[in-house]
Amino acid sequence: MVEHRMLTFLLAAVVAQSAAFQVGTATAQRGQIARGAVEVPAGVDAALSIPVAVVHGARPGPVLAIVSGAHGTEYASIIAVERLIEQIDPRTMTGTVILVPLVNVPSFEQKIAHVNPVDGKSMNRFYPGKADGTQTERASFAITREVVEKCDHLIDLHGGDLDESLRPYAYWTKTGNEKQDAVSREMLLAFGLDTIIISSDRPKDPAASRYLENTASTRGKPSLTAEAGHAGTVEPQDVDALVRGAVSVMRYLKIVPGTPSMIESPVWIERVAPITSDATGIFYPLVTRGSFVQKGMKVGYVTDYLGRTLLEARAPESGVILFIRAVPSMTKGETIANIGVPSNR
Ligand SMILES: [Zn+2]
Repeated sequence: MVEHRMLTFLLAAVVAQSAAFQVGTATAQRGQIARGAVEVPAGVDAALSIPVAVVHGARPGPVLAIVSGAHGTEYASIIAVERLIEQIDPRTMTGTVILVPLVNVPSFEQKIAHVNPVDGKSMNRFYPGKADGTQTERASFAITREVVEKCDHLIDLHGGDLDESLRPYAYWTKTGNEKQDAVSREMLLAFGLDTIIISSDRPKDPAASRYLENTASTRGKPSLTAEAGHAGTVEPQDVDALVRGAVSVMRYLKIVPGTPSMIESPVWIERVAPITSDATGIFYPLVTRGSFVQKGMKVGYVTDYLGRTLLEARAPESGVILFIRAVPSMTKGETIANIGVPSNR
């Protein structure tokens, strides 16, 4: 009898254990939120502690990961995930949400755009990472194992870096797997940004996935990337768009109750035409983010430091200004603007 009771107790303990959800040092029981970190051990350079929150629903269901701050000065996206941590309630959830608000902590703390100042690498270009690489590679390796492999869907949020004036948009990665692509397309429509870039040229090899979202996509997990924010600002409409979008995807996946608000007729962008600067100098924009330009139209110009025009930047194709340089600093080889060319379909 005692033995039987002991066995029942042990079995219950095992079931309770398996119902918990762990990411890094954060272990959440059903109906609870846990906060912790994905610990990246020291290697050829310093260790890194990446904060993570696990919101573990009362009932089992899909696991959605939401990650931001690969670029630590894309503030609107980071603040959006902070808000999600406060806002979503595990007691009413069916499924689990892993929230990683700030991957690139050194970039955030030192206000360095685009890269991790520890090793000079972009934290969205080295997936799936390497256990013995530099900090960015080790961090990517840890996120692949702890976040990507533990989720069913992933949303990677970005927010227009310090020098980027961009209009909100999302990316749809076409993997070629029709069933998966149909789900990720629905997730994008649920997210609700009205401009969607179709990416058909992302790496197909999971061992060379390069981008975070692509690391999930090449592992068979329908996922998306979305950007809102510009030039270091934290404007309510950008943060709201990302928070609303994430919650709407949670509704689409039935993790939280409610009907997703699906966007009906987004502008699909079939390719992005960049304008690159051939000169170093001072950049003057002549158009704003989100405006439509005709092929050949002047979008800006670059002068030397004494006011002499070095180049006029013209639109190589007609389309929408997805992004235009937000600051006067311009060096040779940098992008002046990206023009999204809408698809005819
Ligand atoms: Zn970014």
